[in-house]
Amino acid sequence: MPNNNKELTLSAPLSGPVLTLANVPDAVFASGAMGDGIAIDPLNDTLYAPCDGEVIHVARTGHAVTLRADNGAELLLHLGLDTVELQGDGFSMLVKEGARVSNGQALLRYDLDSVAQRCKSLVSLLIITNGEHFQARPITLKGVKVGEPLLHIVSKTPGETRDDEPDVGVEVFGQIRIAHRGGLHARPAALVRQTAQGFKSRSHLHFSGRSASCDSVMGMMGLAITEQAEVHVSCRGSDAEAALQALLKTLSTALAEEAHAEAPPAKAPSRSAEAGVLHGVCAAPGLVSGPLVRLQGIQLPEDVGGHDVAEQRQRLHDALANVSREIQLTLENAKARRHVDEQAIFSAHLALLEDPVLLDAAYLSIEQGCAAPHAWSRSIDVQCQVLRQLQSALLAERANDLHDLRQRVLRALLDEAWQFDVPAGAIVVAQELTPSDLLQLSAQGVAGVCMAEGGATSHVAILARGKGLPCLVALGEALLAQAPGQSVVVDADGGRLELSPSAERLMQVQQAQKRRAALRAEQQTLAHTPARTVDGVQVEVAANVASSAEASQAFANGAEGVGLLRTEFLFVDRHTAPDEEEQRQAYQAVLDAMGDRPVIIRTIDVGGDKQLDYLPLPAEANPVLGLRGIRLAQARPELLDQQLRALLQTRPLQRCRILLPMVTEVGELLHIRQRLDALGNELGLDERPQLGVMIEVPAAALLAEQLAEHADFLSIGTNDLSQYTLAMDRDHAGLAARVDALHPALLRLIAQTCDGAAKHGRWVGVCGALASDPLATPVLIGLGVRELSVSPPQVGEIKDRVRHLDAAQCRRVSTELLNLASAAAVRQACHQHWPLG
Ligand code: PEP
Ligand code: MG
Repeated sequence: MPNNNKELTLSAPLSGPVLTLANVPDAVFASGAMGDGIAIDPLNDTLYAPCDGEVIHVARTGHAVTLRADNGAELLLHLGLDTVELQGDGFSMLVKEGARVSNGQALLRYDLDSVAQRCKSLVSLLIITNGEHFQARPITLKGVKVGEPLLHIVSKTPGETRDDEPDVGVEVFGQIRIAHRGGLHARPAALVRQTAQGFKSRSHLHFSGRSASCDSVMGMMGLAITEQAEVHVSCRGSDAEAALQALLKTLSTALAEEAHAEAPPAKAPSRSAEAGVLHGVCAAPGLVSGPLVRLQGIQLPEDVGGHDVAEQRQRLHDALANVSREIQLTLENAKARRHVDEQAIFSAHLALLEDPVLLDAAYLSIEQGCAAPHAWSRSIDVQCQVLRQLQSALLAERANDLHDLRQRVLRALLDEAWQFDVPAGAIVVAQELTPSDLLQLSAQGVAGVCMAEGGATSHVAILARGKGLPCLVALGEALLAQAPGQSVVVDADGGRLELSPSAERLMQVQQAQKRRAALRAEQQTLAHTPARTVDGVQVEVAANVASSAEASQAFANGAEGVGLLRTEFLFVDRHTAPDEEEQRQAYQAVLDAMGDRPVIIRTIDVGGDKQLDYLPLPAEANPVLGLRGIRLAQARPELLDQQLRALLQTRPLQRCRILLPMVTEVGELLHIRQRLDALGNELGLDERPQLGVMIEVPAAALLAEQLAEHADFLSIGTNDLSQYTLAMDRDHAGLAARVDALHPALLRLIAQTCDGAAKHGRWVGVCGALASDPLATPVLIGLGVRELSVSPPQVGEIKDRVRHLDAAQCRRVSTELLNLASAAAVRQACHQHWPLG
C-alpha cells in the first residue's frame, strides 16, 4: 500500500561500520543538505534493498539508486563519495527504474578494489530525500551486516511539517535566472522561504544536480547558487502553479536595497607595511579613537554524556523559543523604526532559527546522546563548514549569522546574561562580532569596532554602516594579541588600525570626535527648549514610545510629549490578556514618566502586521485589509470598552489623549465618542480626554475635513498611509525601498489632511516614521504639520532641523513638490532646497 506514512525499519544495505552523517567526509552530505540519513563504510561488494519498494531513479553512472518505500519515504542509496566521476566504470546496476523490489534484493554490484582505489572514499549513504515528512532514528551506530536492522523511519507529526496537505496534486516546473546580487544568500533565501510558505504546495530548488526544499534557508544556501545562475523550481500541490509563479518572481527580483546593502567597501585598503598599524578592510567609515576592549565568545565545557534525551530536547526547544521571541522583538523594533536592513537581517535569522536542516541535525545529535548545547553547537559548526566550502565569499560571510544564532541559543541554554560590560567610547576588538552583538554595542555607545575576520558585505557591516559606527574587518589574528586598555585609532576610511598613535595624533582624532560630539551636545542642550522656525512657527517635537521606560528616555531627551504610545506593544510578550487594572497602571506609568506633558495613547491596533499571542484573531485571506485597528470595536467591542475604561481612570485626564487607529469613516469616531461618554458617566467623571484620529488610510485623508469636525486632533500614520496608498506591503523586503512616504501621492494626501483640519481649527501631527526623517521635516512643516512624533534619540536632531528652517519658504517649495512625479524626485529636490548638515 503506497504512501501509508507508517513507521518502517530499514535493514542494512551493506556490511560495515556505521557512521552518522556528521562524520561523512563530504560537506554536503554531512550538512544534511541532501536529507537526513546514515552512512556505512562498506566491506562487501553488493548493495541490497533496505526495504520493499519501487525503484524511482537509477543514476546514469550506476553509482546510486533511489527507492520509494511503501510508506512513501524516498531513499537515496549512494555508493561511495564523488563516484559519479567514475562514469559508471566498475558498477553494474541490477535493477531498472519502475521495478518493484523486495527487502534484501540485490540492487547493484561494484568492483570493490577498483572503485576503492579511484574514488575519494567508499563511505556510502542512505538518505531520506523527502525528509520534510519523515524522521530517521538510527538503531545502531556500531558495525552492521547486510539485512540487520539499521534505521527506523517515522513520519513527522503534522506540527513538525510546514503544512498538512498530503503530497498530492500536480507537480509543475519552471526555470529562472537568479537576480540577487551575490547569489542566493541568507536574505533572498529567507524571502524565497517566506514566499513558499504562503502556499500549500511544497516547493524545491534544483541546481547543479542537487535539490533543496524552499522551507530551508540552509538547504537553499547550500546549493551555492550564484548571481545570474539558472535554477529549476518545482512545486507540487493543489496551488502549485500559483506557488511556482510567485517563486519565479521572487527569484528574479533583486532586493531593492541590495545595491547599497551589499556595496563593497568604498576604498580598497592599502596593505603596505606600516609600523604599529594593522591593515584591514573598511566596513563602515569614520575616524575615532578610544581604549581597546576585547570581547570573547562562549566556550563550551566538555560534554560528559549520560543525558536524559527528553530533557535535553525540551531544553533546546525552550531555548529556541526564547531566542525566537527575542528576535521577534528586535524585528518589531526595526519595523517601528522602518529600518529596512535590520528587518531583512533579523527576518533571515528567524528563518534560520526554524531551519529544518539545523534543527533536525541538532535533535538527532541529542537522540544520539549529546547535551543540548553541544548538539546545537555541532549542528551550527557543520553548516558553517558547508557555507565556507561553497567557494563564495558572500556565503562564507553568512557563517557569521550562524555564529550569532549559536551564541544566542547557547546563552539561553546556559542561562548566561547577554550584556557586555563595555564602556561607552571603547574600541571593541573581537574575532568576529555578530549582528546582535553589534546592535547591543551600538546601543552602549562604543566608538568603533574591529574584527580579526569578517567581510565588508557581512550583515554586521551593513548594520554598522546603518548606525554610523566606524568598523574595520579582516584585520587578522594579530588583532587578538593586542593588550586591552591601550589607546588606539580606528581610521576606517583608510582601512587602518593604529596601535600606538602618538600623543599628537590622538589629540587630532579626539578633536575631530569632540567637534562631532559638540554638535550632538549642542542639539541636546537645546533639546529641552521648544523648537521654532526662523520665522517663528512653533513645531512640537514629541516621541513615539512603546513602554514607560522608553517614555522616560524620551522625556530625558527633551520630548514635548508622547505623540504615539502603541498599546499593543505594552503586553507583547504576554500569553494572557492584561485586565483593566493592569492596563490602567501601564498607561499611568507612561503619563507619570512624562512630567506635565501630554501623552497620546493609541487604542489597541492588532491585526495586519501586528499579532498578539493572547488575542488570536480569526485567520483572514487579507489580514491587512481585515479586522484590524478600530475595526476591533466591531469584532470584540468588550475589549475596546475595557481599554477605554482603563484610559478614563488615568490622571490627570487632561494629559491623556486617545488616538484611534485605522479609522476610515466618521461613524467609527462618533461611536467611540459615544462609548467614552457612556463609560465616563458610569465612572462618574465630568471631564473627557481629547480624542484624535489616525490618518493612515487614504479614505481618512480624503475625509479629513469631516473627521476634523468631530476630532480634537489628527495624527498621520505615514507607515500605513504609504502601504495603502502605494498598494505595497510595508513589510515586503523586496519593495522596502519603494515604500517611500515622500511619494508625491502621499504628500498630496498630507496636504489635504492639513487643509481639512485647518477648516475646523484642529492641529495635525505625524507619528509615522517619516516624522523621524530630517529630510522630510521641511516638507511636513510646509504642508501644515505642527507636531512631529519621532524616535526618542532623535528629538534633539529634529528640533535642531526645525530651528534652521523658514516655514514660509517651506510652504512655497512644498506646494511645488506636489507636482513632482516620484518619491525619488521629491528626495532629490529636498536635498537641493534643504541640504542636510
Ligand atoms: C503608521 O502606520 O504610520 C503608524 C504610526 O502606526 P503603526 O506603524 O503602528 O502601524
Ligand atoms: Mg499604522
